[in-house]
Amino acid sequence: MQPDAPPPESSAAATRCFRCGASFGCGAGTDGCWCTGLPAIHPARLAALPAEARAALGLPPGAPPASCLCPTCLAAVSAGLTPHS
Ligand SMILES: [Zn+2]
Repeated sequence: MQPDAPPPESSAAATRCFRCGASFGCGAGTDGCWCTGLPAIHPARLAALPAEARAALGLPPGAPPASCLCPTCLAAVSAGLTPHS
């Protein structure tokens, strides 16, 4: 029997998108995360949105968790946050 060991740290942390529930790898702690190519969205900005604006973006109600969005949702939400001129 092996003693309980913490899971090995990988360069891309597996996390789950809080918008669609998809599993994806976040490489925020590495040099080459896909998210650096997209506009960053501060969680406080999402928390400050009115409920109807969040619903329009497909976000669940309540305070956003301190987790990432998957590439698809991050692109969709950032597009939704960008004012259309
Ligand atoms: Zn997603």
